[in-house]
Amino acid sequence: MRIGVLAIQGDVREHLQHVASAGAQAASVRTVSELAQVQGLIIPGGESTTIGMLMQEEGLIEAIQKRVAEEAFPVYGTCAGLILLAKEVIGKSPARLGLMDIVADRNAYGRQVASFEAPLTIAGIPGETFLAVFIRAPQITKLGPDVTPLAYHQGQVVMAQQGSLLVSSFHPEMTPDIRVHQYFINKVAQPIVRNATGAS
Ligand code: GLN
Repeated sequence: MRIGVLAIQGDVREHLQHVASAGAQAASVRTVSELAQVQGLIIPGGESTTIGMLMQEEGLIEAIQKRVAEEAFPVYGTCAGLILLAKEVIGKSPARLGLMDIVADRNAYGRQVASFEAPLTIAGIPGETFLAVFIRAPQITKLGPDVTPLAYHQGQVVMAQQGSLLVSSFHPEMTPDIRVHQYFINKVAQPIVRNATGAS
């Protein structure tokens, strides 16, 4: 299976390395034709306004929306990627995918403390806690009925899933731990790709 990393801004190389370590093929995605060659996509953190506008210029917003609607294309948005996936955003966010039934408060953590680390217990990821790095992170302030919370930090949901869509307000590529990437590849993307191809 080939997993793409949106290569507009952010820790593209670290995400590619984590995807490869987790056992999938990794590919940078900058264009609609590169998007067509992957079976899942990771949107790294960065500045959501910039990433969204450049995605729009490339036609990637529409192309991703179409694949999600037609084939439950797996997308994992981290930090700014979470903001881009949210249906509703508190704070300006002009160009977005708007696919996941959550409300994101853009710089909620950033207003309190710019960055911090916290050990998280993540549903579906057994074993030790996952050390999550938060950088000017958004908060999820509301979740729709079809959204499953997967991890909390101080009572706030910081990782969630809705079908083929996964989001985290933290950066899982900043530590050597590859378990969140494994979760996206093996538990979100793989079952969907298998169903679509009819393979067992
Ligand atoms: N707060 C940033 C934004 O609004 C996201 C920060 C991040 O991705 N680390 O885009």
